[in-house]
Amino acid sequence: MRKVIVVGGGISGLTAAHELLTKGYDVTVIEASSCIGGKVSTVEISGVLVDAGPDAFLVREPEMEELCTSLGIAGDLVSPISRSAKIWVDGNMYPLPKSQFLGVPLDLDELSSLNLVSSEGIEIAQNDFINEETGRDEDETVGSLIRRRLGDEVMDKLVGPLLGGINAGDPDRISLNSGVPYLASAASLDSSLIRSIQKFVRASGRDPKAPIFLTHPEGLGKVIDALHKKLEGKIVLNTNVESIFTEETNWIVQAGEKKYEADAVILTTPAYVSAAIIKNSSTTVAELLSSVEYASMAFVLFAFPSSGVLPFDGSGFLVAKSEGLLMTACSWSSSKWEHLGKSDKTFVRVSAGRVDDDRAFNFNDGELVSKLLEELSLTVGLETPPEESRVIRWPKSFPQYESGHANKVDEIQRLLGSETPGVFVAGAAFNGLGLSACIRDGKASVQRVEEYLEVVH
Ligand SMILES: Cc1cc2nc3c(=O)[nH]c(=O)nc-3n(C[C@H](O)[C@H](O)[C@H](O)COP(=O)(O)OP(=O)(O)OC[C@H]3O[C@@H](n4cnc5c(N)ncnc54)[C@H](O)[C@@H]3O)c2cc1C
Repeated sequence: MRKVIVVGGGISGLTAAHELLTKGYDVTVIEASSCIGGKVSTVEISGVLVDAGPDAFLVREPEMEELCTSLGIAGDLVSPISRSAKIWVDGNMYPLPKSQFLGVPLDLDELSSLNLVSSEGIEIAQNDFINEETGRDEDETVGSLIRRRLGDEVMDKLVGPLLGGINAGDPDRISLNSGVPYLASAASLDSSLIRSIQKFVRASGRDPKAPIFLTHPEGLGKVIDALHKKLEGKIVLNTNVESIFTEETNWIVQAGEKKYEADAVILTTPAYVSAAIIKNSSTTVAELLSSVEYASMAFVLFAFPSSGVLPFDGSGFLVAKSEGLLMTACSWSSSKWEHLGKSDKTFVRVSAGRVDDDRAFNFNDGELVSKLLEELSLTVGLETPPEESRVIRWPKSFPQYESGHANKVDEIQRLLGSETPGVFVAGAAFNGLGLSACIRDGKASVQRVEEYLEVVH
């Protein structure tokens, strides 16, 4: 029986390990912290389970739902009851256009009626229907495409805040192809960006009323609990892997005094951690891995007494960067999820921090809570003190897929094959950071392990 070690017990590592186990491999997951799940983490606040990391997954990518089905928990999944979101910009709250695709407006008359973008901004966006496409290059940024086709105002007030929210990044630096491949596909059918996306949406034949997101009402930690059961006895906790090296044909994974031997190793740790682990075996791979930049962000989960809070019309709001606020987004969890709306508390989750803004990490928890309460007062007039608040910090948690990312990932894979055969990487840093993409990458790494073991052993 071939032995494979998976380093890191986040969703990528756990799904890779689950797949290996199903295929009959001897597998061990080594996790540094005292629990598995990584970014997937559910906590309790005011007696209710709330997600402290991802709180939903996209339905259009099937892997996470398929995983829930295989774990027997898909029947419990729920979709948001409110779909409409707002945006705080120019000191006012505006509804997001109903007709939009990842923030790209598809009906400029509707956009104009919202008064979110000036009439000059609308005129510039209208040129998208007339101007020939001249500027596309192979690996342009999201910002470059949107600014060229629809103008700066649409970018700064709409698309930027929406897409920046996905990875706490700067859409002017994020690669269109690697960072938002769904938008890249939708943008490739016509020289007009709006017409192209309209064609893409029509061709997809998607029911506009079908759910876009799903979650588990007891938190996505339920998925981790179910995976834990499948991997009973295969997980080693509180074990910080420091390095790997070869001994004869095998790999040795070193964690302090402990050594674990395996035929193959999958590193599913964040890229900068994998870089440190691999650096004695390949400095070139380590350098490439550590060149993936990460953004830090923090959440504050609030539970307010509902008696003192006006209901929010929508699932939450985004904040444009131009406002200079600490908060980047606010999820009005009690309006978004039916199961949270039933409580006598109002649950609100406020995000702070992005790739070029570490202010949240310079405040202690108390300061961060009071700054964000001040901003809730400014944006939604909320003055009631929370019954409970909880700060969750995610330092260096969002990999940034900048221009050149796809080439970098290809080069990492190529060099791993030649310099450290038998060692593989997977996870959020490579081929998508959403939960389904991580599952896909975990499974792809298992396939690479199988191909390697077939050839070598
Ligand atoms: C705040 C936040 C909100 C998000 N929201 C969403 C969302 O709503 N929907 C969505 O689809 N995606 C969301 N994402 C993205 C998604 O959650 C992550 O990309 C994904 O969970 C990452 O999984 P992973 O297994 O690749 O990495 P991780 O979850 O980071 O797992 C890596 C694991 O490695 C362990 N580790 C680190 N160092 C070592 C070491 N030296 N030795 C052993 N183990 C080690 C860590 O403790 C961790 O458990 C969000 C991400 C964040 C940070």
